[in-house]
Amino acid sequence: MSLLIVGSVAFDSVETPFRSVDNALGGSATYISLAASYFTAPVYIVGVVGSDFPKRYLDLLEAHNVNLTGLQIVEDGLTFRWAGKYHYDLNTRDTLLTELNVFETFNPIIPDKLKKSTYVCLGNIDPTLQLKVLDQLENPHFVVCDTMNYWIEGKQAELKEVLKRSDVLIINDSEARLLSNEPNLIKSAKAIREMGAKILIIKKGEHGALLFTEDVVFSAPAYPLEMINDPTGAGDSFAGGFTGYLHKTQDLSPENIKRAVIYGSAMASFCVEQFSTEALENLSYLRVQDRYREFLTISRFDEI
Ligand code: AMP
Repeated sequence: MSLLIVGSVAFDSVETPFRSVDNALGGSATYISLAASYFTAPVYIVGVVGSDFPKRYLDLLEAHNVNLTGLQIVEDGLTFRWAGKYHYDLNTRDTLLTELNVFETFNPIIPDKLKKSTYVCLGNIDPTLQLKVLDQLENPHFVVCDTMNYWIEGKQAELKEVLKRSDVLIINDSEARLLSNEPNLIKSAKAIREMGAKILIIKKGEHGALLFTEDVVFSAPAYPLEMINDPTGAGDSFAGGFTGYLHKTQDLSPENIKRAVIYGSAMASFCVEQFSTEALENLSYLRVQDRYREFLTISRFDEI
């Protein structure tokens, strides 16, 4: 069955200490679907844009086997906009603008043929919308969910409902601390897993990611990149690589989930090397596999 991705499709304006871009293609569903498309095709997105959304961006997604049947285009509506500014170390950012626009009245409708989707990735989006999507699915087998501080602060009750119905939550370290009210990440992970999602992945920016399950704590290394241009979308690319690989292999064993974490990390490492979706537009599965092997090389050590 198909991989269903729900999230924002956006215009992003990004400012780093080195360069700025305006109105670039962005959004959680955009990054997730592009990253996942290197593992499984087609991928299906459900989301909304306004009539100001350029055809060239739709063509770009379709060229990557992203099926747009579930993307609503609102006549005279304005596409979601986000702007962020990164600090000198590129690890922290300030959100300068969040304009929900067409998302304010968005009612996600899952096309009939996608209601049986078994693998679902709920990208960063209003948790109320994530719930509306789950309500329409017949028997979701594996639900991966992402969120951000904006929703943890503004819609925490709804977010907790989503967590109860999800298998995996992917968030970054500061979001984990915010959601759990707990500064220590290990204690924080325990508290969050009790909220619902039994598999938790905490991303630590350029310091790798931690996977927590019932029996496993796994630490994925960070890829030592010399050139980081734009961290926007790294988390979503991680989610896309992670879910795309699991959908491709249809294997939810603990060992395969670890592999998926490394594939997610590989996609995030590509994403940040260029601005916006540039890097994700021009990859090949061979390059993805090469990077997976490099992750092995940098983290392997011998028993004594
Ligand atoms: P990430 O860097 O992985 O956290 O994701 C950045 C992407 O999330 C950008 O492309 C934004 O368009 C999108 N985004 C930012 N804020 C929101 C929000 N409140 N709801 C949905 N998507 C958002």
